[in-house]
Amino acid sequence: MDYTAVFILACIFIPLERLLPLHADQPTLRRDWANDLLYVLLNGFLVRAGFTFVAALFMGGFTHLFGADPTPWVGDLPLWAQVIGAIVIADIGYYTAHRICHSVPFLWKFHAVHHSIEEMDWLATHRVHPMDQIFTNTLSLLPVWCLGFSLEALIIHQALYQIQALLLHSNLKITFGPLKWLIASPEYHHWHHANERDAYDRNFAAQLSIIDVIAGTVFLPFKRQPKAYGVNEPVPRHYHQQLVYPFAAIFRMLNQPRQPQENIMSQSQATKPLEDSFGKLAMLCIFGYFAWQQVQSIIILLTHRAEIPLWGLALSAQLVSAGFLAVILFYTITRLPPRSSAAGLAPRIVAVTGTFIMSLLIVMPPDAVSAPMRMFSTLIIIVGSLLSMYCLHQLGRSFSIMATSRELKTQGSYSIVRHPLYAAEVLMILGVVLAHGTGFAFGVGALWLVLQVRRAQYEEAVLRETFPEYADYARRVPMLIPGLRLAWLEDSVTPKGQRA
Ligand SMILES: [Zn+2]
Repeated sequence: MDYTAVFILACIFIPLERLLPLHADQPTLRRDWANDLLYVLLNGFLVRAGFTFVAALFMGGFTHLFGADPTPWVGDLPLWAQVIGAIVIADIGYYTAHRICHSVPFLWKFHAVHHSIEEMDWLATHRVHPMDQIFTNTLSLLPVWCLGFSLEALIIHQALYQIQALLLHSNLKITFGPLKWLIASPEYHHWHHANERDAYDRNFAAQLSIIDVIAGTVFLPFKRQPKAYGVNEPVPRHYHQQLVYPFAAIFRMLNQPRQPQENIMSQSQATKPLEDSFGKLAMLCIFGYFAWQQVQSIIILLTHRAEIPLWGLALSAQLVSAGFLAVILFYTITRLPPRSSAAGLAPRIVAVTGTFIMSLLIVMPPDAVSAPMRMFSTLIIIVGSLLSMYCLHQLGRSFSIMATSRELKTQGSYSIVRHPLYAAEVLMILGVVLAHGTGFAFGVGALWLVLQVRRAQYEEAVLRETFPEYADYARRVPMLIPGLRLAWLEDSVTPKGQRA
């Protein structure tokens, strides 16, 4: 950071924090202030060097895939609308990156450096590990840069972001009134740093607290203020040690011998956290790409309204599919740590093929189907997607692509069949196959069904071994079809001696 800028900020924030302190007993030259000043003076260079490299790669790839300016209309919007748009998009990216940092163990080690702040003030804002900063910038800034916002809008957005970041960390007693539910305030972000059980993993956004309100991660208790900030892990106190700390901690994590878990027998194995983290990252990339494609299709639908038959229905189907993808992304980010997963390669191959095999339809042009069939198939897709979204919401944080157990669900749609998400997806896929109208599509659809049944069987094996109560649940609830038990289907998953 520019030395003049630091001087100006010091001239503004030091007197302000003396005038309106939240913690009045906290001195200006509090513990570790010199270390945080080092961050101000040295970190900028490391972040710029790393982020320039990542940004060049990302934007090169983006331009290659979507062209130099895929959304030319963005730059034509009035300046105020562009600034608001940039804040919303960047902060959704920030929220996502921040939440990932709190849930992926190896990324947390980098982010823990920022959470090692024990006394909050404007200077502490800057204590961020360069890797943490580069990762967060990638998800928050790059999407905004790629979308064609004007330079003025980007500069205003950055200025507002920086001022708000300083304000959020400052030792200032400022309240935003009811606006605190919309805009991130110092009170809101101080709770994010609080080292208190009920405040952990809350208040992730940087500018718009409403994102946390919508996502159900907001924590703003009345008439209470944080008693202590910081983390319970031994983050060292000096700049150079803090730069090295995450790497050393990850190295230790990888070399830790895993405790063998109880309850896990021959067919399953304890899931390695690293495999789960990589799986999560891959899913975010792939489903993120699909979601982006959906957004593109929605934009095309909106701009070519007159030329598209059954426009309203087509738009509804796209919006519901985009919603389903958003729920997938949300629960992938927030999913619980794995308890165990199926051993061997076969369950993994079946899971990945089952998930993506329908993408094969892209290579084959669809047949021209009649208007009533198109209407019927689109309706089925909408109903199937809505049901899938509902079932996925009930599965919630236990969601996985691989045969992995996290938490047992037996309520809601899980009291009707044991695999409601697959059952709902059958409807959705039927719609897709009918809309495509080719023999090829029917073949791929049939293969998809076979793979999903096999996948459900692998998942049951893992669930049975992790949760002793699963056998009883399986005796009460049919596998895939509501109210109907097909002997061959049930027998294929029920171990001998457990059959009802
Ligand atoms: Zn955090």
